[in-house]
Amino acid sequence: MNPIVKNENYSKLLNNEGFETSVNEEEILELPSWVDKEKIKKGQWFVSFNFGFVFRTAMIAIIAAPISKPLMKIMKFTKQSSSPKVAYRRFTLNFMHAFYWFLFKIEPGSKAWKSFEVIRSIHNHINKRLTKADERKISQTDMVVTQFLFIGFQILYQNEIGIYGKDEELEAYNHVLRLVGYMLGIEDKFNVCGETVEETRARCWAIVEDIYKPFLINPSEEYLNYIEPAVEGMWHSVPFMHFNSILFFLKRFSNVPNFQCIKLKHDSCTEFCAFEKISIYTKIRIKLDMFFVEYLSKFFIYRIILNFFYTFVIATLIFIFPILSMIKFGWKFAYVKMSNKKE
Ligand SMILES: [Zn+2]
Repeated sequence: MNPIVKNENYSKLLNNEGFETSVNEEEILELPSWVDKEKIKKGQWFVSFNFGFVFRTAMIAIIAAPISKPLMKIMKFTKQSSSPKVAYRRFTLNFMHAFYWFLFKIEPGSKAWKSFEVIRSIHNHINKRLTKADERKISQTDMVVTQFLFIGFQILYQNEIGIYGKDEELEAYNHVLRLVGYMLGIEDKFNVCGETVEETRARCWAIVEDIYKPFLINPSEEYLNYIEPAVEGMWHSVPFMHFNSILFFLKRFSNVPNFQCIKLKHDSCTEFCAFEKISIYTKIRIKLDMFFVEYLSKFFIYRIILNFFYTFVIATLIFIFPILSMIKFGWKFAYVKMSNKKE
């Protein structure tokens, strides 16, 4: 499905040194020497005007977040997304942070800067607790597997996700995510984003082939039990989420065997097709999703409408009037604020 060649050395790096090296715990933030402010501005504009794809992949990211055993261990340790309520809070917060990175200047004193400081201090806090409990700290690889969710599927599957940008826009987008990774404590050699989009693609494919795919070929009961409440919780911000179709897309994009064929008739297929076995409802959801995102996104005017729709729905349901979560969790809980307090 994808002709990109993975960066073999990067895979090895993540599976060895990456696990041994903890996330940068420096409290004082500084911009890296390679930052290009014009590129950052361009990349942020690009994301803001293409919010639809950010959104589509965020939905997949929600269930992909605890991928890999070490990550799952950390998330369990911090009791994140163990119930729909906690999951709702966590994912809404994640959205907020991402909003800040893409909408505000990345410079000392800005909301984006504050967001990086908050996340770093939360990580440091978790690391202290992990050390106390004699557990391994948050590693570079843990960070990277999560960072991947902000760019990996997007640049590996541009058409399927509905990204239509010029090369220079994608380069700028890559530059923003590279900076975000750096600011969150990822060393350049581990960063999912290389200096060019091409390098980033090779690194992303390494993550798909050597981390995502092996994990998703046979996902554990533990993992599945863990992500279901997360989707249920997130549903209150995004009422058109559907667990089984998201899981299908995650496996499809992670190049899991048997998940590539999505034909309605499989008479001529030589191998087992997972699509054949899923419920009619899930099939319809998948096909509809593909129609709305993959097919219609080819048209410029549709993309404008879609982006407007997503921005509007999310701004309303998360920031302005989280009505669904109010009904479920109570109004005080529903408004989520960025803070470095322990959640
Ligand atoms: Zn088939």
